[in-house]
Amino acid sequence: MHAECFCGNVIIEIDGTPDWVSYCHCRSCRKATGAPVAAYASFKNNVLSTKSGALKFYESSPGTKWGSCSICNSPVTYQSSKYPNDTHFHLITIDAHESLRPHSHVHFEEKVSWIDIADDYPTYDGSGPDE
Ligand SMILES: [Zn+2]
Ligand SMILES: [Zn+2]
Repeated sequence: MHAECFCGNVIIEIDGTPDWVSYCHCRSCRKATGAPVAAYASFKNNVLSTKSGALKFYESSPGTKWGSCSICNSPVTYQSSKYPNDTHFHLITIDAHESLRPHSHVHFEEKVSWIDIADDYPTYDGSGPDE
């Protein structure tokens, strides 16, 4: 499978399965995406290879980097020095996202009040037990 930005400039091949797939309701993810909730799949860095383009990075705090396309600006990745071997991809950038369903909600304490969650996946305050 592969991840691709909005315009197709950035293409990253992913040769592996995700360690973690989840929604994140934190304020940072909302601001970084412009969406009320973000969804991610996290992969080990050693299964990733860039096929086209290059990400540009915004460092919102020391060790927290948000990768986006330098042409279309669409968000593609999140990386934290807390998880140095992992890259979180915005789930919707991945071609196989339909088969990578989120299975939890993290930072649920920050959820916007006008989002109603109708699934039965576990909810966690903070980053949850899987990370
Ligand atoms: Zn792009
Ligand atoms: Zn978040």
